[in-house]
Amino acid sequence: MALISTRGNAQTVPASQAVLRGLASDGGLYVPQTLPRFSEAQIAQMAHQSYQEIALTVLSALLNDLDGKALAAAIGGAYARFSAPQVAPLLALDKRTHVLELFHGPTLAFKDIALQLLPRLTRLAMDKQGEARELLVLVATSGDTGKAALEGFMDVPGTRCAVFYPQEGVSAAQRLQMTTQAGSNTHVIAVKGNFDDAQTGVKAIFADPAFNALMEAQGRVLSSANSINFGRLAPQVVYYFAAYARLLASGAITLGQKVNVAVPTGNFGNILAAYYAGEMGLPLGKLLCASNANRVLADFIQTGVYDTRRDFLKTLSPSMDILISSNLERLLFELADRDAATVRGWMGELAAKGRYDMGSNRQEKLAHAFAGGWADDHQTQAQIKDTWAQHHYLCDTHTAVALHVLNEHRQDTGDSDPWVVVSTASPYKFGWDVAKALLGQSAVQGLDDFQACALLAKETGGQVPPRIAELPGLPLRHRAVVEPKAMPDAVLEALKGNK
Ligand SMILES: *Cc1c(COP(=O)(O)O)cnc(C)c1O
Repeated sequence: MALISTRGNAQTVPASQAVLRGLASDGGLYVPQTLPRFSEAQIAQMAHQSYQEIALTVLSALLNDLDGKALAAAIGGAYARFSAPQVAPLLALDKRTHVLELFHGPTLAFKDIALQLLPRLTRLAMDKQGEARELLVLVATSGDTGKAALEGFMDVPGTRCAVFYPQEGVSAAQRLQMTTQAGSNTHVIAVKGNFDDAQTGVKAIFADPAFNALMEAQGRVLSSANSINFGRLAPQVVYYFAAYARLLASGAITLGQKVNVAVPTGNFGNILAAYYAGEMGLPLGKLLCASNANRVLADFIQTGVYDTRRDFLKTLSPSMDILISSNLERLLFELADRDAATVRGWMGELAAKGRYDMGSNRQEKLAHAFAGGWADDHQTQAQIKDTWAQHHYLCDTHTAVALHVLNEHRQDTGDSDPWVVVSTASPYKFGWDVAKALLGQSAVQGLDDFQACALLAKETGGQVPPRIAELPGLPLRHRAVVEPKAMPDAVLEALKGNK
């Protein structure tokens, strides 16, 4: 399967090259020229397969120029690091509501699903393409991607990973996860700004010919581990197939029956993978895009107008604090009937004016496949409390946004279909806020994040994941803080002594 750029001015490339390059040379995102399709019979077969087997089936089709045996080994290695043998357990809250837990990897957020695999795919792609230069992977993170990328690329030969995070935009656990990162090829830099500043800065480095030439002279080449990289997206398609297979196996649905999904959304990678899964033949119904108070996407789905001219809000679900959702461009390409000139027009308007209007025909198309909604912090907290009270299920702040939006959607539409709600992080990753939501302000007053986690575990009969509990005892290894405009220099500084 070859990939083409959403902006229409880059060469068609095989999957292995798209994985190495990240962004297309014309500034667009790589999308499959045609998506593979799976028959009902193939989907039925998945009901008897392990997560790894389903992953091999789906990924062999999406990344079809990688060697099948090597791909199987990469999948095996990546998911061996997960604490749940099912990789992505599916739990029923009630008969119609199933939670797909994607946070059982080493960094306790759903990013591990893709980022444990991407470095292995990258290594395979480097061998395939005869890439001898060192791959310098630049990452902008709203909190979870950074740690997952560091953990995935740590000590992978021929690669180096530099992560930028918003200095004040991440939880204490997220910050410590990154600043204590081990590995001889990892760099972590705080940016004085928000996630959009960090992401814009990374994009600017990619687009800077002088910087790229300098890297070339050092025997390096830039790459990306953000969800703009197709190698990040492909592994995420897998878990929608796996969830459907589990529902089939348990008898909760019959073959061909449509299942809806609710996804806590930031950069639009996770929910876009659901869209692709649907286009690949998986019987999915509505895709519910759940935003926090930074509700650009919810508004966009309702109006067809994407408008970033608003305040960037810091919320209890920081991994969704985003106003410019990069992956949306891939959906726009489909909504524009794959007309790259239209996409270029919208992206040009976005860059120049901070908004674009898709028009009502396209908005109708969008609203046919997607529904959108949002939850503010108050509703998020109430949802955590309600979900515990009703189901004895402890969810994190991001998952709570999706559960709230789903409840509202059901009330508004009278929908009674089965739903998969994607759960994207361990509640202990945002332990202080979850404990406050569940137990009240006075219970957490004066506690640090880790004391709050211990309290949360005690009150709910759970256990603080070891990878969280160990954080306060780990040595601090990364201290750099820079202005957004100094990001290129910070990379050069980090590379000194690492030739
Ligand atoms: C990244 C992230 C999201 C948002 O996912 P996107 O693919 O960026 O839409 C939601 N929740 C958590 C916990 C995350 O880490």
